[in-house]
Amino acid sequence: MKIDAIETYLVEQALETPFYFSQFEFRTRQICLVKVIAEDGSYGWGEGYGPATVVKAGVEFLAPLAVGEDPLQVEAIWSKMHLRALDYARRGVLVAAISAIDIALWDLRGKLLGQPVSTLLGGRRRERVKVYATGMYFTHSGDLTGKLVEEARLYASQGFRALKMKVGLGLETDVKHVRAVRQAIGADLQLMVDANHAYSLSEALRFARQVEELDISFFEEPVSPEDYEGYRELRRRASIPIAGGECEYLLAGFRQLLSMRCVDIAQPDICGAGGLTETKRIAALAYAFQTNVIPHSWGTGIAFAAGLHLVSTLDIVPGRLRMPEAMLEMDRSENALRDTLTQPQFKQVDGAVDVPTAPGLGVDVDPEYLAQYARAD
Ligand SMILES: [Mg+2]
Repeated sequence: MKIDAIETYLVEQALETPFYFSQFEFRTRQICLVKVIAEDGSYGWGEGYGPATVVKAGVEFLAPLAVGEDPLQVEAIWSKMHLRALDYARRGVLVAAISAIDIALWDLRGKLLGQPVSTLLGGRRRERVKVYATGMYFTHSGDLTGKLVEEARLYASQGFRALKMKVGLGLETDVKHVRAVRQAIGADLQLMVDANHAYSLSEALRFARQVEELDISFFEEPVSPEDYEGYRELRRRASIPIAGGECEYLLAGFRQLLSMRCVDIAQPDICGAGGLTETKRIAALAYAFQTNVIPHSWGTGIAFAAGLHLVSTLDIVPGRLRMPEAMLEMDRSENALRDTLTQPQFKQVDGAVDVPTAPGLGVDVDPEYLAQYARAD
């Protein structure tokens, strides 16, 4: 069996309500999907994280390296793509293009072998994965604090046991928002904050001290992803667990983050950091550093399915009778692509989602929605 073709699809949706975070504003959701097709017509789906037009160009550059190869030889194809990209892309969107093709290959390999991806990754430790709701972005609504509180209450009423909110607008505003949300949801739910690297080290320290009493489960991307020293210093001095890694790439990037003891929780994005092949290695490295992995997840059901399969196979540290829970991010911000493009849809019940059991990733793309959202170039 050989790989016959690799197709890219640029899908786009204009948001009804644009939202922003500490770095920029989203007016559309745009994603590059990848379909790897084998000679017999069977296929696998993947997607890349990052600017979709650039991911698409990257996939088109790399695709000839995979076409004609045996789709079961996933890691060998990964190595070929990585070697071709290394001189230009030790980080960045070309790695996301590798990731997109790699995820599609895992999906295809699972379908060809009749096994779910989690089995191919080494086997599930859990059938359901705890998820946390990501939302509470900023909008131009008059009463932003009220809007954040309302959204937090909505997630709590839907059954989520853990929520993550955005910070990074300025210390005073951020502290006010976090206090209001914690007060609204009570003490029982986990609450996390994400600054998307908006703070300097001193600001991050002051913020951490001011919200320390609010039982924050982790403080994500406090400082610049380039500031490894800043991460390390913050982690030494703050009592809140520090998380990061969504802007980190490949095993080598995570080696730096982990060996410098920058984070308590590593957050590779499977669609950006090197696909399932490389994220499995990153998870092994994190395990060696006694650091848990909670993948960053942003995109369609394909990205989320890849996350579910990977997290279902993670060993969590420290090992003990009552193990800490594994967890995955579940983006709840407006995204019709995520909510319509793939079937079946993932349902959160009691704060967790079932890991798909069908061969491959266990999701398929709906051709009608694909045609509806495909960007005409
Ligand atoms: Mg984040």
